[in-house]
Amino acid sequence: MKLVDSHCHLDDHQFDEDREQTIERARAAGIEALMAIGTGNGPPDLEAAIRLADRYPFMYATVGVHPHDAAKATAGTFEELRDLARHPKVKAFGEIGLDYHYDFSPRDVQRAVFETQLGIADDAGMPVVIHTREAWDDTLAVLGAHWRGGGIMHCFTGDERQAGQALDRGFHLAFGGVVTFPKAEPVRQAARITPEDRLLVETDCPYLAPVPVRGKRNEPAFLVETVRKLAEVRGVTPESLAGQTSRNFERLCLRHATPNE
Ligand SMILES: [Zn+2]
Ligand SMILES: [Zn+2]
Repeated sequence: MKLVDSHCHLDDHQFDEDREQTIERARAAGIEALMAIGTGNGPPDLEAAIRLADRYPFMYATVGVHPHDAAKATAGTFEELRDLARHPKVKAFGEIGLDYHYDFSPRDVQRAVFETQLGIADDAGMPVVIHTREAWDDTLAVLGAHWRGGGIMHCFTGDERQAGQALDRGFHLAFGGVVTFPKAEPVRQAARITPEDRLLVETDCPYLAPVPVRGKRNEPAFLVETVRKLAEVRGVTPESLAGQTSRNFERLCLRHATPNE
């Protein structure tokens, strides 16, 4: 089975002891491409994913400021993001968005930093990777006012209605370990109604490991479990779902030509 993990935090300190082995296990499990998310610990370091993607041909990178870190962003941060968006391995902008669950940054600052980054992503012609938690309506409002491109609703945990809203805006939905959790029936229903050409899978590792490894540190090799469950929910084979989600990732993220190319 050939798989694409569309969302990983392999720079996380939880991988410091065995990052190489984790990447080897990912390859052995059939992961043929992987998107390293570059938000790291926030500004001033914006290159957490680029450092990884530069070392592995099958890895791609994003750049962006996570809503948690919005208060750390300065004018210099945005200037640097504009430059980094031209790096050949950078294929998307993110994860950006709003997180009203933790409120690590003030909400008005989160919104302003989100809007500014949508502008930079638009200029770069790149898809965006959206993180939204307990902020669905505001996220849609900001996208409605400031975004006309495509992107990914990462770790989609909404219901059928919210899936419809995101799909109407042209977004892809990326499903992760949550789809395997017993109580997540609304998320499985959202996965059922998602058109096959808008479907992606992700681990969001080290977070949100799927059943039967739930509670452990997550890693790309565990994506197989999510793919199996999602395939069962949609009534297709795991191989077919893996192939479809890999093609979707390629079409959305890898066909895009950076200004340097
Ligand atoms: Zn996230
Ligand atoms: Zn993430």
